Amino acid sequence: MKNRLEIIVFITLLTFLACKDKTSKNSDFKSGNDKPNIILILTDDQGYGDVGFNGSKDILTPHIDNIAKKGVVFSNGYVSHPYCSPSRAGLMTGRYQQRFGHEHNVPFSPQDSTMGTPKNEVFLSKKLKEAGYNTCAIGKWHLGDHPSFLPPKRGFDHWFGFSGGHMNYWGYPYSKNKTMHVQRNGKNVNPKKLTYLTDDFTNEALSFIERQKDAPFFMYLSYNAPHSPDHATKKYLKKADHIENGVRSVYAALIAGVDQGVGRIDSLLTRLGIRKNTLIIFLSDNGGRLDVANNGQFRGHKGMLFEGGIRVPFTMSWPAKLPQNTRYKQPVTSLDIFSTCLAAANLKLSENTLLDGKNLLPFLKNNLIEAPHKALYWRVANGEEYAIRKGNYKLIKSAYKNKTMLFDLSKDEMETRDISSIKPEIFNELETLYTNWNGNLTEPSWTDPHIQNVKKEEQDVQNIRFKSLSKKEKENYEFNH
Ligand code: CA
Repeated sequence: MKNRLEIIVFITLLTFLACKDKTSKNSDFKSGNDKPNIILILTDDQGYGDVGFNGSKDILTPHIDNIAKKGVVFSNGYVSHPYCSPSRAGLMTGRYQQRFGHEHNVPFSPQDSTMGTPKNEVFLSKKLKEAGYNTCAIGKWHLGDHPSFLPPKRGFDHWFGFSGGHMNYWGYPYSKNKTMHVQRNGKNVNPKKLTYLTDDFTNEALSFIERQKDAPFFMYLSYNAPHSPDHATKKYLKKADHIENGVRSVYAALIAGVDQGVGRIDSLLTRLGIRKNTLIIFLSDNGGRLDVANNGQFRGHKGMLFEGGIRVPFTMSWPAKLPQNTRYKQPVTSLDIFSTCLAAANLKLSENTLLDGKNLLPFLKNNLIEAPHKALYWRVANGEEYAIRKGNYKLIKSAYKNKTMLFDLSKDEMETRDISSIKPEIFNELETLYTNWNGNLTEPSWTDPHIQNVKKEEQDVQNIRFKSLSKKEKENYEFNH
């Protein structure tokens, strides 16, 4: 009898220890440590309307939509710049990138130790690493190509990706950036070891998550899809068979690759039992590409300060702490991600660092009516273009249109009716706010061809419009009207 009792006690103890081991690896809330895992997923040039959660009917994103369903969708979610590199500098620092001269794309310059986000700017990864997070960057970087600017110097323990603004999806150097390779922790990866970059990035992400055990992790997963070049695989093209516009069907296939990756990551987190306490943030780095994207009900595209260039698909999911299946309508910005992640990890912000982003958690948890921001600001090419949104009013100085306009987004989301002559007092108020904000910024540290591209693009548009007219109407035609 005594022996039987001992055996039962022994088996019970073994079972307890086995369960305990499993719990310590996989539980959502480890004892004494409830810091969430954080996964920041960035896509490249994806339009506001090119996700199911913003109403897309042709490009289907069921797995990204699942993340959105388990969280909050931002209807008025902005990035701080209408194109790649400056937007990413704002995202990583939580600060308007014009405060530190990062106002243009970084040209590919692996030999130049001065060309990149200034080294005294603190990245989100660095703060989280200091707080005990395991950190990982995967995908497109575009914040400086010299080794001193790459993720290992910015607080990332692990890095797999490429440094510049775009890359052949088969991982081969191409175009002007002939020496740019996919790297893993500073060493070039042989392209023969790669398959298709979107899948390679997803596989690296899954492998990183599998290796996590005793500490929370932060993963910055920066897909270069659906940016050009238009490379896809048969598997993903199949998902876009129903789209009869060829270039849009390839763009849809690029997004299908990301969607499948997001689904595989979501499934792995669920299988490991850590999904509920993982904060997943998904957004695009700027508005959708001019040639193929759908920016929903908004005017313009990547490169423009009209809504189509800066309002992006944006969702945040943390099932353990945030409401689910909701839309948040107050304007928010990608700059908020820095402060929100630090707050989620119970970290205090340094009083010495001026952050422009806000911690969104109290606004989302308590459904606060007040807006997180009094106003949001944009500046491009040292002020050749700028915009400010305060409440429903938006002032925009456009180099494309060579004028400054005022819109009421509550009545005119498409920005079709310039009301600057009807509401001069609002126009002046916003101009003054912009002037005050602008006074705290620095000059850009380098330049890029954006403004030349703007002028050429606008001229092309006007030429196409002009050519459509009858001979008689051409005689009296005024350009830009
Ligand atoms: Ca981009």
